[in-house]
Amino acid sequence: MIKNEWGTSTYPLVPGHEIVGQVTEVGSQVTRFNSGDRVGVGCIVASCRSCDNCIDDLENYCPKYTLTYSGLSSDGTITYGGYSDVMVCDEHFVLRIPDALPLHSAAPLRR
Ligand SMILES: [Zn+2]
Repeated sequence: MIKNEWGTSTYPLVPGHEIVGQVTEVGSQVTRFNSGDRVGVGCIVASCRSCDNCIDDLENYCPKYTLTYSGLSSDGTITYGGYSDVMVCDEHFVLRIPDALPLHSAAPLRR
């Protein structure tokens, strides 16, 4: 992705998926998470949530999904991945990390 070997990279590019971290802020419609929660995110941060694939929980086949990095958010900004300081993600794609599980051990998990 950094070298655009697949021809799909969008620059500036900050790679990183299968991310763990801590919620620092939530939007007004977020219901499942609060600031301070320990969370993880796979490789998708958003999708249309209305196509047949999304309804069947197969968002990775959604023609409008947004990747964790090198994707375009609904507001037109480029998504930056796990090596960035902060990121924005639809709560549907966020996992809660239990306190007993060290964050460094949880990064590659997916719902
Ligand atoms: Zn969809």
